[in-house]
Amino acid sequence: MSCIFCMIKDKIIPSSVVYENDYVLAFLDLSQANEGHTLVIPKKHFDTLFEVDDLYICEMMKAVKVVGNAIIKTFNCEGINVLNNSGTAAGQTVMHAHIHIIPRYENDGNNFVFNNNESKFDLVDIANQIKNNI
Ligand code: 5GP
Ligand code: ZN
Repeated sequence: MSCIFCMIKDKIIPSSVVYENDYVLAFLDLSQANEGHTLVIPKKHFDTLFEVDDLYICEMMKAVKVVGNAIIKTFNCEGINVLNNSGTAAGQTVMHAHIHIIPRYENDGNNFVFNNNESKFDLVDIANQIKNNI
């Protein structure tokens, strides 16, 4: 077994667990973008969030809400980012699906800046293209 998060889920590698049930495990991210930065993973291996089956993805989102509310209560943070990186191009470094819960504060230096291409694209056309693939 080479998946580091499967090893964490199986308790082969230790982690700081904050919540778990039959479907999910939530544990502290080693990097701690801010104090309390937590990862929620399914207890079944899926490479990316978009491969997670409906049962596990619902459990992951339920856990995000439970843990996120506990983080708000614990740190009285001013905001929270719920973040997922899917694929290496999007910054995924561990190929076991996971959701980051990151407590946020004004001017804490964790800035996510995306390009603004508003003037370049036809939104009606883009929406139609995506709709056609649903
Ligand atoms: P990604 O970049 O794939 O969205 O996030 C992976 C996260 O996993 C990183 O923020 C990294 O700090 C965290 N991480 C990597 N290895 C370990 C580990 O062994 N234990 C814990 N607790 N976190 C890890
Ligand atoms: Zn895994």
